[in-house]
Amino acid sequence: MDYSAKIDESLQRLHDEGRYRTFIDIERRKGAFPHAIWRKPDGSEQEITVWCGNDYLGMGQHPHVLEAMHDALRATGAGSGGTRNISGTTVYHKALESELADLHQKEAALIFTSAYIANDATLSTLPLLFPGLTILSDELNHASMIQGIRHGNCAKKIWRHNDVAHLRELLEELDKDAPKLIAFESIYSMDGDFGPIEEVLDLAEEFNALTYIDEVHAVGMYGTHGAGVAERDGLMDRIDIINGTLGKAYGVHGGYIATSAKMADAIRSYAPGFIFTTSLPPAVAAGAAASVKHLKTDPHLRELQQTHARILKDRLKAMGLPITDHGSHIVPVHVGDPVKCKMLSDLLLENYGIYVQPINFPTVPRGTERLRFTPSPVHGPEEMDKLVHALDDLWSQCALNRADLTG
Ligand SMILES: *Cc1c(COP(=O)(O)O)cnc(C)c1O
Repeated sequence: MDYSAKIDESLQRLHDEGRYRTFIDIERRKGAFPHAIWRKPDGSEQEITVWCGNDYLGMGQHPHVLEAMHDALRATGAGSGGTRNISGTTVYHKALESELADLHQKEAALIFTSAYIANDATLSTLPLLFPGLTILSDELNHASMIQGIRHGNCAKKIWRHNDVAHLRELLEELDKDAPKLIAFESIYSMDGDFGPIEEVLDLAEEFNALTYIDEVHAVGMYGTHGAGVAERDGLMDRIDIINGTLGKAYGVHGGYIATSAKMADAIRSYAPGFIFTTSLPPAVAAGAAASVKHLKTDPHLRELQQTHARILKDRLKAMGLPITDHGSHIVPVHVGDPVKCKMLSDLLLENYGIYVQPINFPTVPRGTERLRFTPSPVHGPEEMDKLVHALDDLWSQCALNRADLTG
């Protein structure tokens, strides 16, 4: 067996399909977000503006967050020193879990290494609690949910994206008394569209199904206290399990679920992905708790984010760029070709110092390749002007389609 040749083959396949990923090496500068330094492969440096980050509100440089992290680091040292079960449950972890349970108005919360792990660990454990479980999953659910559902080895049914009529059909096919769980997202991050939360919850009640929602792209940003779209729509109490991240709008790291005390107790007790891994560093838990707490009472940053997203969309639309607008904070510009998408991204970076990663298959379906911009409170008028002019130039240079502005 020639292992090395096998690896070459696998990598070559990605190159052939035009989906080999390259990472660019950046150094964000605290106090200067969204500006960063790009360290090029040849060792030189260029100042760039990051337009595709998921630190949606710039909380990664917020003084309250940094102070909490510094304090915890000084007080307690670097790592937690153990798994949650064996010496790794600290006051910082408990405080963060209380903060999160309160945020979502649930009895309990459990923190995980990341929201990816939270989805994988929770969804793969639910079939152990409910033998015979069928999971009904939206077809555009995040890779971590898909992975969790696979790992659970239970029956699954995929409903067409946001199609509640299809979801109903699938529910009707199942045994009335069998356990069921509907898994979906509140905001799908690649198009920025919202899940039909209320309709899904109505169906769940009608068919006695549990509900699991991923609010990763909404927590910190929607709702009076930043608890997400379900809070904004007054639906939080009807959802069984809410998943969120501490690594995106909260600007730190980690993931969680918020749920009933009993469900949390069962997941805590059965999920290998919760049990057999070192708990988050206390400083990370402290920073995340400070971020959640801050955004509970200060709506200013999420309001500014929405305003900036609105302005960017309106300006790009006015230029006739093919943007998708579902009223969320995410601004996808449709390119529809993997090579052009990569080329636009390269030109923006090299010629304009604008960093936006091309989004190609398999993150999105083929033919829907796009540039995905994430305006935030720290993307002010100056950054916005530069971006708009750069895109205007490039769209003309590359003779890309614009919408028919007369139509
Ligand atoms: C990023 C993402 C996750 C994973 O969150 P992490 O905390 O970064 O692991 C889960 N769900 C969705 C929809 C995501 O986009």
